[in-house]
Amino acid sequence: MTPKNQHYDAMVIGGGITGLQTAIDLGDQGYQVALVEKEASIGGKMIMLSKVFPTLDCCSCITTPRMAAAANHDNVTMFTYSEVLAFERNGHGFRVNISKKPRYVIEDLCTGCRQCEYVCPIDLPDAFDLNMGAHRAIYVPYSTAMPQKALIDIDNCLFCGKCEKACPAEAVDFIQQPEVLQIETRAIVLATGFETTPRDAKKEYGAGKLLNVVDGLQVERMLAPTGPFGHVLRPGDGKQPDSIAYVQCAGSRDQTLGVDYCSRVCCMYAIKQAMLLSGALPMADITIYYMDIRTFGKGYEQFYQNARAMGIEFIKGKVARITEDADHNPTVRVELIDEGSRVIERTHDMVVLSVGLEPGYNPQAVFSVPVGTDGFIRIPEPNLFPCRTDQPGIFAAGTAAGPMDIVDSIVMASAAASEAAAHIETQHSPQPARGSQERIVSYA
Ligand SMILES: Cc1cc2nc3c(=O)[nH]c(=O)nc-3n(C[C@H](O)[C@H](O)[C@H](O)COP(=O)(O)OP(=O)(O)OC[C@H]3O[C@@H](n4cnc5c(N)ncnc54)[C@H](O)[C@@H]3O)c2cc1C
Ligand code: SF4
Ligand code: SF4
Repeated sequence: MTPKNQHYDAMVIGGGITGLQTAIDLGDQGYQVALVEKEASIGGKMIMLSKVFPTLDCCSCITTPRMAAAANHDNVTMFTYSEVLAFERNGHGFRVNISKKPRYVIEDLCTGCRQCEYVCPIDLPDAFDLNMGAHRAIYVPYSTAMPQKALIDIDNCLFCGKCEKACPAEAVDFIQQPEVLQIETRAIVLATGFETTPRDAKKEYGAGKLLNVVDGLQVERMLAPTGPFGHVLRPGDGKQPDSIAYVQCAGSRDQTLGVDYCSRVCCMYAIKQAMLLSGALPMADITIYYMDIRTFGKGYEQFYQNARAMGIEFIKGKVARITEDADHNPTVRVELIDEGSRVIERTHDMVVLSVGLEPGYNPQAVFSVPVGTDGFIRIPEPNLFPCRTDQPGIFAAGTAAGPMDIVDSIVMASAAASEAAAHIETQHSPQPARGSQERIVSYA
């Protein structure tokens, strides 16, 4: 897609649900927005989820229209596969250099027909499916990706040329180079989101080596209609699990991992997944080992009570260790909190670690925006200005500022749009005419 102009009123960094909502809100008010996303598609983590608590709406059904609204908005220009390299203050605004990584496919020509995928001989682990599925060396990121454009994993490409021959649009371009674009903007919103705490961090839980110990995001993909297996199967041997256990706070409230905070969403997503698994596998026993259940949002306590009523077993206990038997069935060793710390061991077919949320990006190096002791972006006056960072004109929203659910992310996204709009309006220097063409200032 050829960028429309070089001057924008606002730049939103991160194309998850938070960044999408901020970009749409600003665009709807008539501001010109540059939306910068480091991945090849917008959508963030939300497009990976199966259904959302507490409504159990299909996640793809509610995320895809938001992605389309941003992607097709007259006032929003998307820069996917792009990252900010450098930034400087420029009068009343900012001058930002962004690097657009090469897809080795010409975006303007690619129609997303996927003919190239059929002929490519290379299969690679698919990060969108948490490496439980595969994609070709040339691939469209996933079925609802936006933009629907292919890219080549050049490090694993054989350069056999089969995709180039198969492409009806002549879009494959093996010599494409990174571009550095210079953009001027008056406000910046950081919506860089989160990563889950690593599954292999705790050696007591098998350090990521136990075949049938998975994490919450993997289960989201297994439950999603577009998931890797089309069904819930344990990854170790493809067996349908009859007994599934959740281990709560596996990566949160844990000083040994440097994550001493509560990640807020893990109790709720575990309850949600337990309910969905009960539907997908009606004969399966599902147990949740927890220290306390935190149901902080509207309707969440009722959601939890519904799960109990459905027969999901909740055991108040601290999981000290997970091991596996010769058939790779995980065994949990649990200290029962309400029974004088009595220790039990139970074996399940699959164990799910309810991993927490940690920051997706540290903005200190590029933007000089401080982060708190938890690593999330610091908001100095959250009660008065919930999205304002220490840097005038730079705002933060969603999980870039701390763990939160989708509802709170969207509320904060709209608040950031509002604060950014107010900031733009207070800048009185004349803005250069819109519509001037993007300028390529260098080739990396
Ligand atoms: C397993 C699991 C299940 C969940 N289930 C639910 C649920 O049912 N209901 C609910 O309300 N919440 C749920 N959540 C929480 C929900 O996923 C988050 O609230 C939501 O996705 C936050 O969106 P975001 O846009 O802030 O972050 P993200 O989705 O992480 O988006 C951030 C975006 O920024 C991009 N980015 C990062 N750094 C840069 C950079 N430097 N430059 C450019 N782009 C960058 C990323 O690639 C990404 O696209 C769940 C979370 C997990 C882990
Ligand atoms: S690169 Fe060519 S073959 Fe592949 S999706 Fe794009 S247009 Fe289709
Ligand atoms: S040139 Fe690379 S991407 Fe294209 S078909 Fe061959 S291995 Fe696949």
